[in-house]
Formats: sequence, C-alpha cells, structure tokens
Amino acid sequence: MRKGKLIVFSAPSGSGKTTLVKHLIKHHPNLGFSISATSRAPRGQEVDGKDYYFLSQKEFSQKIANNSFLEYEEVYQGVFYGTLKTEVERLWEEGNHVLFDIDVQGGLNIKSKYPKQTLAIFVQPPSLEELEKRLRNRGTESEAKIQQRLEKSTSELAYSKDFDVTVINDDLEKAKEEVLRLVQEFVGS
Ligand code: 5GP
Repeated sequence: MRKGKLIVFSAPSGSGKTTLVKHLIKHHPNLGFSISATSRAPRGQEVDGKDYYFLSQKEFSQKIANNSFLEYEEVYQGVFYGTLKTEVERLWEEGNHVLFDIDVQGGLNIKSKYPKQTLAIFVQPPSLEELEKRLRNRGTESEAKIQQRLEKSTSELAYSKDFDVTVINDDLEKAKEEVLRLVQEFVGS
C-alpha cells in the first residue's frame, strides 16, 4: 500500500476549522477527509458515513477493545470520538493524502505516531469572545454544552505551540489561502 501524508487540523470548537477543511478538499487534488467515528448522536443534517460513523457507546467500546482505532479521545464527558485505522487505510488505498478535523489531543497523537509524515495545523480563533459568538450563532447547542465547549477551548489554546504551524482565523479568505499554500508545500503539488 502506498502511504500518503497526513494533514491534521485541530482547533478549539468554533474556530472555523471545518470551513477551512472543506475549502481544502474542494481546491486541492488527492486529499481525502478522514471520517471519524463518534458515540454522540447526529446533529442537524448530519449523515452517517459522511459526516461521522455514528456508533452506540457499546459499539465504540468494542472497537476500542479490538484495537481498531489509530487514536480516540473522550472529547467531552461520556462522548467519544476516534479515527478508525480502516479509514486511513481506505483513503491511502484510493491514492489520497488524509485530512483530519480532530481535537487537539487527537491531532498531537497522530503527529507523534507519524512525525515526518504529518503536518499538524492549529487553527486559532481571533479571540475567546469571537469564539463564544460563533458558538452561539451556530445555534445547535444548549447553554450547558456551549459552556462546556468554551472551557475546553480555553485549555486547548495552550497547545498551539506543539503544532507545526498556527493559522489565525481572523480573516477567512486569507486563512483559506494560507492553508492551501501550506498543504501544497507539504505534499509537493
Ligand atoms: P463535534 O461534536 O463538534 O462534531 O466535534 C467535537 C470535537 O471532536 C471537535 O473538536 C472535533 O474536532 C473532535 N473530533 C472529531 N473527530 C475526532 C476524532 O476522530 N478524534 C478526536 N480525537 N477528536 C475528534
């Protein structure tokens, strides 16, 4: 199997990283999005097998026991997210480099497993106030969940220094150009 490269996007929730990831998939050839598994319920229009592989808590635990994950985290209390080894293999077999939209700890785990093959990008929101505004505007979470996400975001900001590069997302168009350039340089096309 030809092993491609790994491009990790990690950021506090609400920093706009998903928009950047979607932009890259659209504008760069040979990039495949790693669909994560999660034990949380689908939100809004999310589709199983497209946005996530939605698993029950029991199914997720079985996959942990079977060593099926490249990495996994209990991102929020009682809610698990992880990258299945089969997902990365699938994308490599299709001749793609793999793009990850995962939490900070998961991103650093992948970087430590494949240090040379991985470009780890940290997307930083302009400020915590802006982050809070974006989370509220999304309108998909309860107040308690918003608070939970903000607390996690605050602690995650400290990890930016462990990434290969930090992109500050204060101007979306500039950030899109920057990530495209970074990925082109890294994968060599
Ligand atoms: P959401 O519930 O908003 O879709 O995702 C919540 C958090 O889980 C985000 O920070 C997202 O990046 C992270 N996440 C999604 N998939 C994975 C994964 O496979 N592994 C890890 N460690 N985190 C993930």
